[in-house]
Amino acid sequence: MEEFFEPVHELSKKLARGQTSSAELTKAFLKRIDAVDPVIRAYITVAGEGALKDAEAADRRLSKGENITPLTGVPISVKDIFCTSGLRTTCASKILENFVPVYDSTVTKKLKEAGAVILGKVNMDEFAMGSSTENSAFFKTANPWSTDRVPGGSSGGSAASVAAGECAASVGTDTGGSIRQPASCCGVVGLKPTYGRVSRFGIIAFASSLDQAGPITRDVTDAAIMLGAIAGADPLDSTSIGAPVPDYAAMLRGGVKGLRIGIPKEYFIEGIDKDVLSAVSGALEVLKKAGAELVDVSLPNTEYAVSVYYLVATAEASSNLARFDGVKYGMRAQDAANLLDMYKKTRDRGFGAEVKRRIMLGTYALSSGYYDAYYKKASEVRTLIKRDFDEAFKSCDVIATPTAPTPAFRFGERVADPLTMYLSDIFTISCNLAGIPGISVPCGFTNGGLPVGLQILGKHLDEGTLLMTAYAFEQATEWHRKRPNI
Ligand code: GLN
Repeated sequence: MEEFFEPVHELSKKLARGQTSSAELTKAFLKRIDAVDPVIRAYITVAGEGALKDAEAADRRLSKGENITPLTGVPISVKDIFCTSGLRTTCASKILENFVPVYDSTVTKKLKEAGAVILGKVNMDEFAMGSSTENSAFFKTANPWSTDRVPGGSSGGSAASVAAGECAASVGTDTGGSIRQPASCCGVVGLKPTYGRVSRFGIIAFASSLDQAGPITRDVTDAAIMLGAIAGADPLDSTSIGAPVPDYAAMLRGGVKGLRIGIPKEYFIEGIDKDVLSAVSGALEVLKKAGAELVDVSLPNTEYAVSVYYLVATAEASSNLARFDGVKYGMRAQDAANLLDMYKKTRDRGFGAEVKRRIMLGTYALSSGYYDAYYKKASEVRTLIKRDFDEAFKSCDVIATPTAPTPAFRFGERVADPLTMYLSDIFTISCNLAGIPGISVPCGFTNGGLPVGLQILGKHLDEGTLLMTAYAFEQATEWHRKRPNI
């Protein structure tokens, strides 16, 4: 059926006109999940009954014509890292396999208040650590464009569920690329907002100074709609930003005439897949034809970004994940001899290999005697990376790069070598370290038919210009209309 691939803004019009109802749409999407998900495996938990109840409530709202937003009645999926009241939230980890939160994250609370219908919770790398969703403790999610390949990660379930028409839109989180890289791998739009633009309350923490939630959608208009719904200050997250939330959807049509787009030479390096490079170069030509000016910029500390990230992110993770001790949440080893043994057995059985690796790396980086050499040094270089962007943005309005150096890879291809896996994020990580916003938009395909993403980075809190640039690109191309054969 057509509507599985329709953007939120189209579904929303149909709902408002009474051409369809939320209950009808929700039932149709649940059927679609039944039909397609045995192959794609995006969903960890399907909300079923709960989704239908929410759809009926949305229909009542729609029929009264009261309190309607562009999301009212629209079925979406949610990464399984957002706490959802009464709905199992696993973070794709055995340690939280049967965890049912008693409260909602601010993001899901806002989505529910807007009237969105949550179809279910989608797969990810365990605790968002990974770039392929292969680190899920439960199962692998397939890329809808080529089912022997990964959907990217860590928000792989979000990107795959949108690309496969198993929901109208999704929300993910991005600590080092986890929204943008899977969006690029699956041919959809992924937006990581400015750090603090969206509340982190109720999102299971990975690296608190980097984590940020954002939309994964079929097109740029939907990204603007979703961002508008979830952004804003939150008394429950002291790092959330107080600046008013502009009407992002109203800012899309400005065009790129006279816009200066910075091209950082450090992002066009050897080792990038040649089809990726040609798709991205083609995209830059499109923007130029639309009136943008391409200017050379330099981000000289880019080469340190991956090292800095894997010190800062693991250090924060080692501290954040200390709370999973078998006492307060989730799984507890039942056969322990004493308290210490219970901690050890719970954590040994509850965490997967990658999560353990990160906890060990982070604990090491923070340990006395090594703190100055690793964590402190990394924090200092992080400041240099941030200054690189401040400097570059003196001569441009946005920066354009490939989202990832390669298209989606095959299952198992990078599992044996964590370092190769870590390099998947080479172009996305600096954005998190600097706290600035970034978006990935579909910009073409490889010769083998795999989607390629163009990344656009913006100034602090300048999501408006980011979305406007992405929208101008989208209007000039047809890539966002392509669908996988699933
Ligand atoms: N792939 C990166 C990592 O493994 C980023 C993950 C993320 O953004 N959550 O840490």
